[in-house]
Amino acid sequence: MSTIIRASAPAKVNLVFEVGQLGSDGYHPVNSLFFALDLSEELTLAKGEAGTGISIYVHGDSIPEAHINAVPTDHSNLVHKTAVLFAQKLGKATPDLQIDIHKRIPVAGGMAGGSADAAAMLVAMNEFMHQEHGTEKLSIEELAVIGAELGSDVPFCLYGGLAIGTGRGEMITPLEGLSFETNWLLCASSKGLSTPTVFAAFDELDTETQFTDLAELSKTSSPTELGSRMTNDLEQAAFSLMPSLSQQVRELEELGAIRAMVSGSGPTIAALFESEAKANEVSKALNSQGVVALTAKGGAQGARLDG
Ligand code: ATP
Repeated sequence: MSTIIRASAPAKVNLVFEVGQLGSDGYHPVNSLFFALDLSEELTLAKGEAGTGISIYVHGDSIPEAHINAVPTDHSNLVHKTAVLFAQKLGKATPDLQIDIHKRIPVAGGMAGGSADAAAMLVAMNEFMHQEHGTEKLSIEELAVIGAELGSDVPFCLYGGLAIGTGRGEMITPLEGLSFETNWLLCASSKGLSTPTVFAAFDELDTETQFTDLAELSKTSSPTELGSRMTNDLEQAAFSLMPSLSQQVRELEELGAIRAMVSGSGPTIAALFESEAKANEVSKALNSQGVVALTAKGGAQGARLDG
């Protein structure tokens, strides 16, 4: 029987996102408190016919069609790059593969959608190459080193849970999870924001920032306390590029969110609610107005093989 591997990986929000000044290497150092949400990408990998190369099919019905259409299906898809890099690291030829990506994470939304796909692909390739070519399986630490070459958020999508990300966000220190449940509403925008553009707008604003001790935040004792500690240094930059976002943040807080904030580089807004019922109620109301508002719970596990 032909080899079929299923894997999934979670979206992230940055509960805290501190961004330093642009370094001489062209990157911004960051100090991020990453949190994984149970909004997962699902990836299926099947062995392709010999000589057919890599084919990618992307679909999903919970995010706007424009988001699905914005995902490339050629060699520029992060999943394609992952397959090539992973095989190369093992000293093997890139296998022929048919890849199906079920997208649930808004695209170019600051929630690491492409990185989650790459993380799921790393886990899937680890298994595929083991089954098909008898290669030894790599550890999560080894996968994270490869993941960091693909994108700064990929290592976190492998680990999931709650973690600090430093360097460019790729150096992960896992933390114990929060002691309470968190309920989120994620408002996707019809248009995406490119991460480099948001960082460039951040540079223009010339903001003074300081890195703080994020480990201590894992000890917060309630959603209200957590909400009061959430910050994002990129938020003003995202507002300057998409002014409607600041009004959306205000509206979500008026609708009962403990705290609403741009997620990472945006434009998705992550709103924290006191209860699942309240998050669902606001989600329904917004969906009926044509806003894509997805609900999710925090603390999801990282990329994994699915049965
Ligand atoms: P991050 O939060 O990590 O900065 P993001 O969530 O804002 O990323 P992505 O959804 O990862 O952004 O997409 C950024 C761009 O990457 C897209 O506009 C798309 O052109 C390209 N891309 C390549 N591969 C993928 C993929 N598998 N899924 C989504 N986008 C991809």
